[in-house]
Amino acid sequence: MEKFEYFDRKVETASRESLENIQFTKLKTLLDKVYRSNPFYIRKFEERGVSSEDIKTMGDIVKLPFTSKIEFQEDQEKNPIFGTNLTEPLENYVRYLQTTGTTGRPLKWLDTKESWAWSGRCSAMSLWAIGARPSDIVFFPFGFGPHAAYWGLFEGALQMGAMAIPGGGWDTFQRLECLLNNKVTVLACTPTYALRLAEVAQEKNIDIRNSAVRIIIDGGEPGAMVPSVKKRIETLWNAKLFDYIGLTEVRIHSFQCTMQESAVHVIESEFIPEVIDPDTGAHVEEGEMGELVLTNLGRSCSPAIRFRTHDMVKFKIGHCPCGRTFRMLDGGILGRKDDMIVIRGINVFPSMMGNIIQNYLSVGDEYRIVAYIKGSLNQLKVLLDLSDESGRNREKIEKGIVADLRSSLELRVEVEIVPQNTLGKSDYKSKRFIDQREIR
Ligand SMILES: [Zn+2]
Repeated sequence: MEKFEYFDRKVETASRESLENIQFTKLKTLLDKVYRSNPFYIRKFEERGVSSEDIKTMGDIVKLPFTSKIEFQEDQEKNPIFGTNLTEPLENYVRYLQTTGTTGRPLKWLDTKESWAWSGRCSAMSLWAIGARPSDIVFFPFGFGPHAAYWGLFEGALQMGAMAIPGGGWDTFQRLECLLNNKVTVLACTPTYALRLAEVAQEKNIDIRNSAVRIIIDGGEPGAMVPSVKKRIETLWNAKLFDYIGLTEVRIHSFQCTMQESAVHVIESEFIPEVIDPDTGAHVEEGEMGELVLTNLGRSCSPAIRFRTHDMVKFKIGHCPCGRTFRMLDGGILGRKDDMIVIRGINVFPSMMGNIIQNYLSVGDEYRIVAYIKGSLNQLKVLLDLSDESGRNREKIEKGIVADLRSSLELRVEVEIVPQNTLGKSDYKSKRFIDQREIR
């Protein structure tokens, strides 16, 4: 028996050359279809004066225009009900999704039977990579709605041959009961909810450490990439925590494998990932940080071609011991392009700083990250509001945070401990960043 098992050995371990051949063949098929009958992309390609014939090698992909979320939104506003990014007659579409609409109007997205099955296959591959198998029972303690969340994984579990239990419409205790009664082995939920389940289990004296759950897969929050959160969840559940990454506009595109603590593989047989300088649109050097641009190759009915995700990432150089040749994103999503701030010429994501700071904090501790101007220079400082317990280790915490921030950001950040209970509680990471640099 080989050391690692794969969902699709041939593509997952293909050489770079064969992978690029797979990508190129699929890209050409996609472009031919889209150029025949997708009004949205016909318009975009004609504006750019480019057609499928101009794409002769993978390198030619840069001739194709980028697509932004705003373009899709405007298209749907101008062309109700579903916009014009539809390659097939409306009657062929069977699935409806919409984005949560945190930025602007929600975007609607339609899938055909084929594209839904395709995205399910990407999820099945992701589940397989974290060690799930057909014998598993996967539980989704989640109220399914029109948003993409967990639909892909649910379909993936079915396609893999596992049993999938939908756990909507229940309270946390009922979900815990379901999980134990049915000997659930894989739990699919956000890190926050995994912690909430553990909390209620503790209140009700339910022993989850000895439950059958051996794998937790989260999406939506970068929990598995934050060591302190990962450790806490894994200890409480006596299970391994993994991440996957997806977007409504492109579907599940990256997964963690059992050999990577903080990186994900991009499903390169089904996606073409590019990392660009968000200002110039040019490719950055391999391993440098930039914006992730994705083309999905199996959803020709409503594709996203060179879609700008606004997610900042960097490719991880080197090979993964799991044997998969799909390239990796180091640290997963490092931050959102729109959240990036520039401090003395260095790109900083407050969310990433938050992840580092949280490694040192315990329950009851609070922090704020403040950007301010001193002299004419942009500065950053971290305010810590420590509980009694952490207060006893204040020096160690302060030094640790300063050192870790310096090595990861290459920036000196001041840490200040404020009197207890002065910062107030915040449930949202975004509220923990305060920008005082506004110049009037
Ligand atoms: Zn791997």
